[in-house]
Amino acid sequence: MSRVVVDIIRKTYPRRMGGEELVALKDIRFVIDEGEFVCLVGPSGCGKTTILNLVSGLDSAFEGEILIDGERPPGPGIGYMFQNPRLMPWLTVSENVQLVLPDQERGQGRVDALLTEMGLAEFAEAYPGRLSGGMQRRVALARAFVTDPGQLLLDEPFLSLDAPVANRLRQLLLDLYGGRPITVLFVTHDLREALFLADRILFLSPRPARVVLDLAVDLPRPRDPEGAEIEGLRLKLLDQHPDLLAGLAQPAEDLDVLGT
Ligand code: ADP
Ligand code: MG
Repeated sequence: MSRVVVDIIRKTYPRRMGGEELVALKDIRFVIDEGEFVCLVGPSGCGKTTILNLVSGLDSAFEGEILIDGERPPGPGIGYMFQNPRLMPWLTVSENVQLVLPDQERGQGRVDALLTEMGLAEFAEAYPGRLSGGMQRRVALARAFVTDPGQLLLDEPFLSLDAPVANRLRQLLLDLYGGRPITVLFVTHDLREALFLADRILFLSPRPARVVLDLAVDLPRPRDPEGAEIEGLRLKLLDQHPDLLAGLAQPAEDLDVLGT
């Protein structure tokens, strides 16, 4: 279970074809306590993926400091589920999950146990190309959990799935989280999804992203993803913060066309 301290002063990208640099993030600070489930919510293109790349340590070119349990990322205790499942088509489900384990830990028992827990046992020897989009995400989720990370990062992992499939995967994620000492940072631009999952939601402004609202979600668990409590809170938030949430009111598919 990790404590995450994020203090990003500035993150820029070089503009393509020369030109001015692009300021992706500016003055963004937050702390995630051990075991918290935090959602980052913001409009497409505001810098959410950039934040995860910095927190994971995949990208270390920025001004500021990020510490996970006092250490700079990357580290072995960080799991990352990307927006695209990124499965290797030439490896089976089981091999795809095993791939991220260090050599000395490549015991099959651990992979088998996790695949069973996640309803993937019967697909262990299948190749990803034969699986539905939802099943592929399930495999990617298994791969993120197999290293027993203290800190899990997820980047819009259930985007563009049918609602029932996405709801099942969200519940699976909560079940896995509930049984493990893990801190979660989950990126989405779907406010309903964030209200279903999170202990706390950090709302981001359009680029360069800044935290404009830090909201504790005090709804009791288990929550009903289609229930009146989530919908009531969502409408209240949209009413109280119309400017801040304007970019989120559109369907995700529309926003994706604009984003990266
Ligand atoms: P989000 O995940 O919130 O949609 P991103 O973090 O992907 O946003 O991107 C934030 C901004 O940075 C966008 O304007 C995007 O075009 C730009 N950007 C992201 N990655 C790169 C890159 N590798 N090079 C140049 N610009 C980038
Ligand atoms: Mg993104």
